Amino acid sequence: MMSDGESSTGQSTTAVETGGQSAVDNVLLTASAATVMAIDEQPTVAITKDDGEPNPKKAKLSGGVGEVFGRGGVGGGGGCGDKQTALDKLEHRLGGILCCAVCLDLPRSAIYQCTNGHLMCAGCFAHLLADARLRDEMATCPNCRVDIAKNTATRNLAVEKAVSELPAECQFCAKEFPRNTLHHHEQKLCAERPVKCGYNKIGCPWRGPSHELSEHENVCPHPSASGKDVMLALEATDQKFQEEKLLYDTIFDLMSFEKITFTDLQLKPYRTEEFVHKLYYETARFSAFNSQWVMKTRINNMQRDPALSVDRHMSYQLILKTKIATPMSVHYLVVKGPFGDMKVNPKIFKFEFTENETETQFVTLPLPDSAECNRLLAAKTINLRLIMFLVSK
Ligand SMILES: [Zn+2]
Ligand SMILES: [Zn+2]
Ligand SMILES: [Zn+2]
Ligand SMILES: [Zn+2]
Repeated sequence: MMSDGESSTGQSTTAVETGGQSAVDNVLLTASAATVMAIDEQPTVAITKDDGEPNPKKAKLSGGVGEVFGRGGVGGGGGCGDKQTALDKLEHRLGGILCCAVCLDLPRSAIYQCTNGHLMCAGCFAHLLADARLRDEMATCPNCRVDIAKNTATRNLAVEKAVSELPAECQFCAKEFPRNTLHHHEQKLCAERPVKCGYNKIGCPWRGPSHELSEHENVCPHPSASGKDVMLALEATDQKFQEEKLLYDTIFDLMSFEKITFTDLQLKPYRTEEFVHKLYYETARFSAFNSQWVMKTRINNMQRDPALSVDRHMSYQLILKTKIATPMSVHYLVVKGPFGDMKVNPKIFKFEFTENETETQFVTLPLPDSAECNRLLAAKTINLRLIMFLVSK
């Protein structure tokens, strides 16, 4: 095993300085995920009354297979009850005051404010910073245009607590609960929440509201299905596990390589020289396997104006900076490392470096979604650990 002492230390030290940022990022991360959920889950306030009518989403649940589990699949239905009268209530007036100035939603977690006190949910705040970074501008408050940045914007805990006490509607049964207990109700208590049949592992596709579960399980044909039918269901599950196992096997194989090195890298933002400056990220040079390397990342594959697109993804490339005489076959992967907090799924790539082939293609940085990409763009630098495995010839 070869260590990469000097260079990784050099990179690590710079990374340590920004380590403190992670806490904020963490907050942003959970918050933006929650915001996305919130947007999806909360039915737009429909001012229709449909009392007496059978609730359309109930019908969909009992008959439905599959799509009831999709986010928001059941949220949009009717059943909004007494919204008309409720609009006059104090809590609705407060909702209008405490909502995010950008998405007008009542945020479920962190709420930030500009120096003039305008409120933004964590997801929108990260998005504003990310857009500003892509455009090479200072981010500004959408209300008063004052500059906003991570160190000038502050959390507003009083608003966060006030919002958590405001009522919110359960997406399944449409009853109202205080926001801070809604999650528990929707996950564990609601009689209308969608659940799977207890025999789903042996092939029962039934999905339905929780209050119909025991009735279904009493008549479910799957517990008395033949071994042959059960085998089919088990094979499908097996297939999925095989794919996961393959990844682990590959990692364990790589662990047996003679030469393994890891480097904690810090990606810093730069702009291209073109007329429309494009954002890309690059690390300082680092050494591994007695050679010098650089990592580059780009956003949305250098799309002309990524700020115009809601879809965000990042891809990265390794560049060998040292002349080599004999080819090097390298496996590599990115993990979050000790100084970063990126939610990256491990994915292994392979490249054969030769005298003339010194740059890998841009491969996707496997992030879960656009929100995570925005969160990374909102931070000043991106910290990660690059692990490289060298095949000995
Ligand atoms: Zn917002
Ligand atoms: Zn403002
Ligand atoms: Zn409910
Ligand atoms: Zn069943």
